[in-house]
Amino acid sequence: MPRAYNFAPGPAMLPESVLRQAQAELLEFGTTGASILEISHRGADFMAVAQKAEADLRTLLAIPDDYAVIFTAGGATTVQALLPLNFAAPGQAADYVVSGHWGKTAIKQAAHCIDARTAASSEAGGFRDVPARSTWQLSKDAAYVHVTANETIHGVEWREIPEVDNAPLVADFSSSIASEPLDISRFGIVYAGAQKNLGPVGITVVIVRRDLLARAGQPRAPIFDYAAQAKAESMLNTPPSWNWYVLGLTVQWMLDEGGVAEFARRNTRKAALLYAAIDGSGGFYRNEVATAARSRMNVPFFLHDAALDKVFLEHARQAGLVALKGHRVLGGMRASLYNAMPEAGVQALVNFMQEFQSAHG
Ligand code: PMP
Repeated sequence: MPRAYNFAPGPAMLPESVLRQAQAELLEFGTTGASILEISHRGADFMAVAQKAEADLRTLLAIPDDYAVIFTAGGATTVQALLPLNFAAPGQAADYVVSGHWGKTAIKQAAHCIDARTAASSEAGGFRDVPARSTWQLSKDAAYVHVTANETIHGVEWREIPEVDNAPLVADFSSSIASEPLDISRFGIVYAGAQKNLGPVGITVVIVRRDLLARAGQPRAPIFDYAAQAKAESMLNTPPSWNWYVLGLTVQWMLDEGGVAEFARRNTRKAALLYAAIDGSGGFYRNEVATAARSRMNVPFFLHDAALDKVFLEHARQAGLVALKGHRVLGGMRASLYNAMPEAGVQALVNFMQEFQSAHG
Protein backbone atom coordinates (compact mmCIF):
# COMPACT_ATOMS: atom_id res chain seq x y z
CA MET A 1 0.00 0.00 0.00
CA PRO A 2 1.42 3.45 -0.88
CA ARG A 3 1.93 6.02 1.85
CA ALA A 4 -1.34 7.61 2.89
CA TYR A 5 -2.13 11.21 3.68
CA ASN A 6 -1.77 11.09 7.44
CA PHE A 7 -3.92 13.55 9.38
CA ALA A 8 -2.64 12.43 12.79
CA PRO A 9 -2.28 15.07 15.53
CA GLY A 10 1.19 13.95 16.59
CA PRO A 11 3.23 11.91 16.07
CA ALA A 12 2.29 13.27 12.70
CA MET A 13 3.12 13.13 9.02
CA LEU A 14 6.75 13.83 8.17
CA PRO A 15 8.07 14.95 4.79
CA GLU A 16 8.86 11.91 2.69
CA SER A 17 12.28 13.32 1.78
CA VAL A 18 13.17 13.47 5.49
CA LEU A 19 12.13 9.85 6.01
CA ARG A 20 14.10 8.78 2.95
CA GLN A 21 17.24 10.59 4.10
CA ALA A 22 16.95 9.10 7.58
CA GLN A 23 16.47 5.70 5.97
CA ALA A 24 19.48 6.13 3.71
CA GLU A 25 21.68 7.19 6.62
CA LEU A 26 20.35 4.68 9.10
CA LEU A 27 22.93 1.95 8.52
CA GLU A 28 25.94 4.16 8.18
CA PHE A 29 26.15 7.82 9.07
CA GLY A 30 28.73 9.74 7.04
CA THR A 31 32.15 8.23 7.48
CA THR A 32 31.53 6.95 10.99
CA GLY A 33 31.14 3.32 9.95
CA ALA A 34 28.14 3.16 12.28
CA SER A 35 24.52 4.20 12.47
CA ILE A 36 23.64 7.53 14.01
CA LEU A 37 21.80 5.37 16.52
CA GLU A 38 25.13 3.86 17.51
CA ILE A 39 27.49 6.82 17.82
CA SER A 40 28.39 8.84 20.90
CA HIS A 41 26.41 11.99 21.52
CA ARG A 42 29.67 13.65 22.57
CA GLY A 43 31.63 12.70 19.47
CA ALA A 44 32.37 15.26 16.78
CA ASP A 45 29.94 13.69 14.29
CA PHE A 46 26.89 13.95 16.51
CA MET A 47 27.93 17.32 17.94
CA ALA A 48 27.95 18.68 14.39
CA VAL A 49 24.41 17.32 13.85
CA ALA A 50 23.19 18.85 17.11
CA GLN A 51 24.79 22.23 16.50
CA LYS A 52 23.52 22.44 12.93
CA ALA A 53 20.00 21.59 14.10
CA GLU A 54 20.14 24.42 16.62
CA ALA A 55 21.63 26.90 14.17
CA ASP A 56 19.02 26.02 11.54
CA LEU A 57 16.20 26.25 14.08
CA ARG A 58 17.48 29.69 15.11
CA THR A 59 17.42 30.74 11.45
CA LEU A 60 14.00 29.22 10.78
CA LEU A 61 12.33 30.82 13.80
CA ALA A 62 14.48 33.98 13.88
CA ILE A 63 15.39 33.28 17.50
CA PRO A 64 17.20 36.28 19.02
CA ASP A 65 20.67 35.73 20.51
CA ASP A 66 19.50 36.53 24.01
CA TYR A 67 17.42 33.35 24.00
CA ALA A 68 18.78 29.91 24.86
CA VAL A 69 17.50 26.90 22.96
CA ILE A 70 17.22 23.72 25.02
CA PHE A 71 16.54 20.30 23.49
CA THR A 72 15.12 17.85 25.95
CA ALA A 73 13.31 14.55 26.31
CA GLY A 74 10.06 14.25 28.22
CA GLY A 75 7.63 16.00 25.92
CA ALA A 76 5.74 19.23 26.39
CA THR A 77 4.07 17.83 29.50
CA THR A 78 7.41 17.65 31.27
CA VAL A 79 8.07 21.26 30.35
CA GLN A 80 4.72 22.13 31.91
CA ALA A 81 5.92 20.45 35.11
CA LEU A 82 9.34 22.09 35.05
CA LEU A 83 8.16 25.64 34.33
CA PRO A 84 7.12 26.34 37.93
CA LEU A 85 10.19 24.62 39.37
CA ASN A 86 12.52 26.76 37.29
CA PHE A 87 10.72 30.06 37.03
CA ALA A 88 8.49 30.49 40.09
CA ALA A 89 9.16 30.56 43.83
CA PRO A 90 7.42 27.96 46.03
CA GLY A 91 3.75 28.89 46.29
CA GLN A 92 4.13 31.91 44.00
CA ALA A 93 1.26 32.77 41.68
CA ALA A 94 1.38 32.11 37.95
CA ASP A 95 -1.46 33.04 35.61
CA TYR A 96 -2.85 30.51 33.15
CA VAL A 97 -5.09 31.50 30.27
CA VAL A 98 -7.01 28.40 29.26
CA SER A 99 -8.42 27.91 25.78
CA GLY A 100 -8.60 24.11 25.73
CA HIS A 101 -7.42 20.78 27.09
CA TRP A 102 -3.68 21.51 27.05
CA GLY A 103 -4.00 24.72 28.99
CA LYS A 104 -5.68 22.67 31.69
CA THR A 105 -2.90 20.07 31.71
CA ALA A 106 -0.39 22.89 32.14
CA ILE A 107 -2.19 23.92 35.33
CA LYS A 108 -2.39 20.32 36.54
CA GLN A 109 1.33 19.85 36.13
CA ALA A 110 2.10 23.06 38.03
CA ALA A 111 -0.51 23.21 40.76
CA HIS A 112 1.35 21.06 43.28
CA CYS A 113 4.12 23.58 43.84
CA ILE A 114 2.76 27.00 42.89
CA ASP A 115 -0.49 28.92 42.99
CA ALA A 116 -1.50 28.11 39.42
CA ARG A 117 -4.36 30.51 38.78
CA THR A 118 -6.86 30.31 35.97
CA ALA A 119 -6.69 33.92 34.81
CA ALA A 120 -9.25 33.29 32.08
CA SER A 121 -10.92 30.29 30.52
CA SER A 122 -13.25 29.57 27.64
CA GLU A 123 -14.31 26.24 29.15
CA ALA A 124 -17.83 27.40 30.00
CA GLY A 125 -18.46 27.78 26.26
CA GLY A 126 -17.00 24.35 25.53
CA PHE A 127 -13.63 25.74 24.40
CA ARG A 128 -15.06 27.01 21.15
CA ASP A 129 -13.20 30.31 21.36
CA VAL A 130 -10.24 31.98 23.06
CA PRO A 131 -11.03 33.98 26.20
CA ALA A 132 -11.11 37.66 25.23
CA ARG A 133 -8.26 39.72 26.66
CA SER A 134 -10.80 41.89 28.49
CA THR A 135 -11.78 38.86 30.63
CA TRP A 136 -8.26 38.04 31.80
CA GLN A 137 -7.73 38.54 35.51
CA LEU A 138 -4.00 38.85 35.87
CA SER A 139 -2.16 38.79 39.20
CA LYS A 140 0.22 41.50 40.29
CA ASP A 141 2.67 38.98 41.66
CA ALA A 142 2.60 36.35 38.90
CA ALA A 143 5.83 34.58 37.96
CA TYR A 144 4.59 34.29 34.38
CA VAL A 145 1.48 34.19 32.24
CA HIS A 146 0.95 30.90 30.41
CA VAL A 147 -0.99 30.60 27.15
CA THR A 148 -1.50 27.78 24.66
CA ALA A 149 -0.96 29.19 21.20
CA ASN A 150 -2.92 26.41 19.53
CA GLU A 151 -5.16 23.90 21.26
CA THR A 152 -4.56 20.66 19.41
CA ILE A 153 -7.74 18.88 20.55
CA HIS A 154 -10.25 21.70 20.52
CA GLY A 155 -8.90 23.31 17.35
CA VAL A 156 -8.72 26.75 18.92
CA GLU A 157 -5.84 29.05 18.00
CA TRP A 158 -4.84 32.53 19.07
CA ARG A 159 -4.41 34.47 15.86
CA GLU A 160 -2.80 37.24 17.91
CA ILE A 161 -1.60 36.46 21.41
CA PRO A 162 -2.46 39.53 23.52
CA GLU A 163 0.12 41.64 25.32
CA VAL A 164 0.52 41.37 29.08
CA ASP A 165 2.53 43.68 31.27
CA ASN A 166 2.53 41.95 34.64
CA ALA A 167 4.92 39.09 33.88
CA PRO A 168 6.68 37.28 31.01
CA LEU A 169 4.50 35.38 28.57
CA VAL A 170 5.13 31.65 28.46
CA ALA A 171 3.61 29.98 25.42
CA ASP A 172 2.98 26.37 24.51
CA PHE A 173 3.49 26.30 20.75
CA SER A 174 3.57 22.50 20.51
CA SER A 175 1.12 22.29 17.64
CA SER A 176 1.77 25.52 15.75
CA ILE A 177 5.46 26.34 16.01
CA ALA A 178 7.04 27.13 12.64
CA SER A 179 3.63 27.34 10.99
CA GLU A 180 4.00 31.09 10.44
CA PRO A 181 6.41 33.89 11.39
CA LEU A 182 6.56 34.51 15.15
CA ASP A 183 8.09 37.38 17.10
CA ILE A 184 9.88 35.38 19.80
CA SER A 185 10.95 38.57 21.57
CA ARG A 186 7.37 39.05 22.79
CA PHE A 187 7.72 35.92 24.92
CA GLY A 188 9.78 34.92 27.92
CA ILE A 189 9.53 31.25 26.97
CA VAL A 190 8.27 29.40 23.91
CA TYR A 191 8.14 25.62 24.07
CA ALA A 192 7.03 22.83 21.78
CA GLY A 193 7.07 19.07 21.58
CA ALA A 194 8.60 18.25 18.21
CA GLN A 195 6.11 15.64 17.06
CA LYS A 196 3.88 17.96 15.07
CA ASN A 197 5.76 20.57 13.06
CA LEU A 198 9.37 19.98 14.07
CA GLY A 199 9.78 16.29 13.36
CA PRO A 200 9.71 13.20 15.55
CA VAL A 201 8.32 12.55 19.00
CA GLY A 202 10.87 12.15 21.77
CA ILE A 203 12.40 15.60 21.74
CA THR A 204 11.10 18.95 22.90
CA VAL A 205 12.37 22.45 22.26
CA VAL A 206 12.40 25.08 25.00
CA ILE A 207 13.34 28.60 23.92
CA VAL A 208 14.08 30.72 27.00
CA ARG A 209 15.07 34.35 27.35
CA ARG A 210 18.41 34.08 29.10
CA ASP A 211 17.66 36.49 31.93
CA LEU A 212 14.89 34.14 33.11
CA LEU A 213 17.44 31.36 33.57
CA ALA A 214 18.87 33.39 36.46
CA ARG A 215 15.64 32.94 38.45
CA ALA A 216 16.12 30.80 41.54
CA GLY A 217 12.94 28.82 41.05
CA GLN A 218 12.58 26.13 43.69
CA PRO A 219 14.37 23.03 44.90
CA ARG A 220 14.82 20.53 42.06
CA ALA A 221 17.20 17.84 40.91
CA PRO A 222 20.04 19.12 38.72
CA ILE A 223 18.66 17.30 35.70
CA PHE A 224 15.48 19.42 35.94
CA ASP A 225 17.42 22.68 35.94
CA TYR A 226 17.05 24.56 32.66
CA ALA A 227 19.97 26.89 33.40
CA ALA A 228 22.21 23.86 33.85
CA GLN A 229 20.80 22.28 30.68
CA ALA A 230 21.45 25.45 28.71
CA LYS A 231 24.99 25.68 30.05
CA ALA A 232 25.65 22.03 29.15
CA GLU A 233 24.18 22.55 25.65
CA SER A 234 21.35 20.12 26.48
CA MET A 235 23.84 17.35 27.22
CA LEU A 236 23.61 17.00 30.99
CA ASN A 237 22.81 13.41 30.21
CA THR A 238 22.44 11.40 27.00
CA PRO A 239 20.07 13.40 24.81
CA PRO A 240 17.58 11.72 22.45
CA SER A 241 20.15 11.84 19.67
CA TRP A 242 18.15 10.09 16.95
CA ASN A 243 15.20 12.42 17.52
CA TRP A 244 17.50 15.43 17.50
CA TYR A 245 18.92 14.28 14.16
CA VAL A 246 15.48 13.79 12.57
CA LEU A 247 14.41 17.18 13.95
CA GLY A 248 17.47 18.66 12.22
CA LEU A 249 16.48 17.07 8.91
CA THR A 250 12.93 18.40 9.28
CA VAL A 251 14.13 21.92 10.07
CA GLN A 252 16.48 21.79 7.08
CA TRP A 253 13.54 20.73 4.91
CA MET A 254 11.45 23.69 6.14
CA LEU A 255 14.28 26.09 5.30
CA ASP A 256 14.69 24.52 1.85
CA GLU A 257 10.95 24.88 1.21
CA GLY A 258 11.10 28.62 1.87
CA GLY A 259 10.82 28.97 5.64
CA VAL A 260 7.96 29.96 7.88
CA ALA A 261 6.59 32.70 5.62
CA GLU A 262 6.05 30.12 2.90
CA PHE A 263 4.45 27.68 5.35
CA ALA A 264 2.15 30.44 6.59
CA ARG A 265 0.95 30.92 3.03
CA ARG A 266 0.43 27.18 2.49
CA ASN A 267 -1.21 26.64 5.87
CA THR A 268 -3.67 29.47 5.33
CA ARG A 269 -4.70 27.99 1.99
CA LYS A 270 -4.99 24.45 3.36
CA ALA A 271 -7.14 25.48 6.31
CA ALA A 272 -9.36 27.71 4.15
CA LEU A 273 -9.97 24.80 1.79
CA LEU A 274 -11.12 22.46 4.56
CA TYR A 275 -13.20 24.99 6.51
CA ALA A 276 -14.93 26.04 3.26
CA ALA A 277 -15.83 22.40 2.61
CA ILE A 278 -17.22 22.01 6.13
CA ASP A 279 -19.13 25.29 6.09
CA GLY A 280 -20.41 24.63 2.58
CA SER A 281 -21.80 21.20 3.39
CA GLY A 282 -25.21 22.46 4.46
CA GLY A 283 -24.78 21.03 7.94
CA PHE A 284 -23.64 17.55 6.90
CA TYR A 285 -20.29 18.45 8.48
CA ARG A 286 -19.83 21.07 11.16
CA ASN A 287 -17.06 22.81 13.05
CA GLU A 288 -18.21 24.75 16.08
CA VAL A 289 -15.21 26.98 16.78
CA ALA A 290 -15.66 30.75 16.51
CA THR A 291 -14.42 31.73 13.06
CA ALA A 292 -11.68 34.05 14.28
CA ALA A 293 -10.25 31.40 16.61
CA ARG A 294 -10.31 28.46 14.22
CA SER A 295 -7.02 26.61 14.19
CA ARG A 296 -5.08 26.36 10.95
CA MET A 297 -3.35 23.24 12.26
CA ASN A 298 -6.08 21.07 13.78
CA VAL A 299 -9.59 21.05 12.38
CA PRO A 300 -12.10 19.12 14.50
CA PHE A 301 -15.35 18.43 12.73
CA PHE A 302 -18.48 16.40 13.28
CA LEU A 303 -20.74 14.50 10.93
CA HIS A 304 -24.41 15.44 11.26
CA ASP A 305 -25.10 11.86 12.31
CA ALA A 306 -22.51 10.26 14.60
CA ALA A 307 -23.76 6.85 13.49
CA LEU A 308 -21.87 7.50 10.24
CA ASP A 309 -18.52 8.09 11.97
CA LYS A 310 -17.31 4.52 11.68
CA VAL A 311 -18.08 4.13 8.01
CA PHE A 312 -16.61 7.58 7.29
CA LEU A 313 -13.34 6.58 8.91
CA GLU A 314 -13.25 3.21 7.18
CA HIS A 315 -13.97 4.63 3.73
CA ALA A 316 -11.45 7.42 4.29
CA ARG A 317 -8.82 4.86 5.19
CA GLN A 318 -9.58 2.94 2.00
CA ALA A 319 -9.15 6.21 0.08
CA GLY A 320 -5.67 6.68 1.58
CA LEU A 321 -6.72 9.26 4.20
CA VAL A 322 -5.76 8.05 7.67
CA ALA A 323 -5.88 9.09 11.33
CA LEU A 324 -8.98 11.28 11.06
CA LYS A 325 -10.61 10.02 14.24
CA GLY A 326 -11.19 12.84 16.72
CA HIS A 327 -9.71 12.90 20.21
CA ARG A 328 -11.78 10.99 22.77
CA VAL A 329 -12.39 14.25 24.66
CA LEU A 330 -14.44 15.61 21.73
CA GLY A 331 -15.31 12.65 19.53
CA GLY A 332 -16.10 13.19 15.87
CA MET A 333 -13.25 13.79 13.42
CA ARG A 334 -10.10 15.84 13.42
CA ALA A 335 -7.79 16.63 10.54
CA SER A 336 -4.35 17.89 11.51
CA LEU A 337 -2.75 19.94 8.76
CA TYR A 338 0.83 20.48 9.86
CA ASN A 339 3.60 21.76 7.62
CA ALA A 340 4.34 18.34 6.13
CA MET A 341 0.75 17.89 4.92
CA PRO A 342 0.64 19.00 1.28
CA GLU A 343 -2.30 20.91 -0.14
CA ALA A 344 -2.97 17.89 -2.34
CA GLY A 345 -3.69 15.91 0.82
CA VAL A 346 -6.25 18.44 1.98
CA GLN A 347 -7.78 18.54 -1.50
CA ALA A 348 -8.05 14.75 -1.44
CA LEU A 349 -9.79 14.93 1.93
CA VAL A 350 -12.22 17.58 0.71
CA ASN A 351 -13.02 15.54 -2.42
CA PHE A 352 -13.59 12.47 -0.27
CA MET A 353 -15.87 14.39 2.12
CA GLN A 354 -17.98 15.64 -0.78
CA GLU A 355 -18.28 12.16 -2.28
CA PHE A 356 -19.15 10.72 1.12
CA GLN A 357 -21.86 13.32 1.57
CA SER A 358 -23.33 12.54 -1.86
CA ALA A 359 -23.48 8.87 -0.95
CA HIS A 360 -24.85 9.31 2.56
CA GLY A 361 -26.56 12.73 2.59
N1 PMP B 1 0.57 20.87 24.54
C1 PMP B 1 -0.05 20.72 23.36
C2 PMP B 1 -0.60 21.93 22.68
C3 PMP B 1 -0.16 19.46 22.77
O1 PMP B 1 -0.77 19.31 21.61
C4 PMP B 1 0.39 18.33 23.44
C5 PMP B 1 0.33 16.95 22.86
N2 PMP B 1 -0.51 16.69 21.87
C6 PMP B 1 1.00 18.54 24.67
C7 PMP B 1 1.10 19.81 25.19
C8 PMP B 1 1.60 17.38 25.43
O2 PMP B 1 2.73 17.00 24.74
P1 PMP B 1 3.58 15.71 25.05
O3 PMP B 1 2.74 14.54 24.70
O4 PMP B 1 4.77 15.90 24.17
O5 PMP B 1 3.94 15.75 26.50
